[in-house]
Amino acid sequence: QDSDVIKVDDAFLRGWPLPMPSDDGDKEERGRVLVIAGSREMPGAVILAATAALRAGAGKLTIATAGSVATLVALAIPESRVIGLPETATGGIAPSAVDVIGTLASRCGAVLIGPGMLDEPAICAFILSLLPRLAETKVVLDACAMNVVRRQLQAVDASHHAQQKYVSSFSSPVLLTPHAGEMAHLAALDKQAVLDNPVEAARQSARRWNALVALKGATSVMAAPDGRIWRHEGGNVGLATSGSGDTLAGIIAGLAARGAPLEQACVWGIALHARAGVRLALRHGPLGYLAGELAMEIPALMHALR
Ligand code: AMP
Ligand code: MG
Repeated sequence: QDSDVIKVDDAFLRGWPLPMPSDDGDKEERGRVLVIAGSREMPGAVILAATAALRAGAGKLTIATAGSVATLVALAIPESRVIGLPETATGGIAPSAVDVIGTLASRCGAVLIGPGMLDEPAICAFILSLLPRLAETKVVLDACAMNVVRRQLQAVDASHHAQQKYVSSFSSPVLLTPHAGEMAHLAALDKQAVLDNPVEAARQSARRWNALVALKGATSVMAAPDGRIWRHEGGNVGLATSGSGDTLAGIIAGLAARGAPLEQACVWGIALHARAGVRLALRHGPLGYLAGELAMEIPALMHALR
């Protein structure tokens, strides 16, 4: 049944090389990435994701985060332009942020939304008003931002339309990056059912949401809405640590901004993230390295796999 699943290993990656900038390329050619993430309580998530996007080779980084933490984020990443967004009462990004960031977002090669965001209803309102403006942009939704698929489905149920119809309103290529727990929540499945059959969970969700889905774990399964499936096994348990997924989402967004199609950015991002964990484990041991240390491993890994 799983014979159509593509195994992701070094040989496969070498056969699907990442786009490279020309030797005389400028920042624009290397791609613009926008990271919309963080909140008053979790400014670190935006720092992890945005740093990882640069380490994946993106040329220009803009960060949009909760206004109260914008300055500290800017100090943590001097390479970035940081835009402070209007906040909700709990320190999340407010839906009116779309007026501040909508036009800029539409001009970026890739936009990552989600790491460290709170306040789910506000984020969903924000994303649903932003997505229609991102027809030319690759979009990665992580963490809390993925709940937008539940909102869309609810909107569909309420209006008695076929589910696929409404969800295909993702007007640009969208990637969702759930771990098993998030997948269970989003697809209204039992977590054990997701763990027992990750390929089916990813395949069906990708079709249903008309989105690329990366179901993350010790084995990660990536599914495209057209039925293509990739499977990656690797990394180590040291990757099961705070901020690990934020770093992965940033790597993927950075690769997409550089010009990789979203499915290539996703497959490569998962492979690089896992290999970064392996390198850190060789040096420091399998437990206790930090998510923030993964990004630094990415340039050499990309170079070795070219
Ligand atoms: P998140 O739960 O969003 O922080 O993401 C965790 C990341 O770490 C994902 O990319 C997982 O694939 C990876 N990960 C978690 N646990 C393991 C494990 N035991 N072995 C390998 N990778 C893992
Ligand atoms: Mg996560």
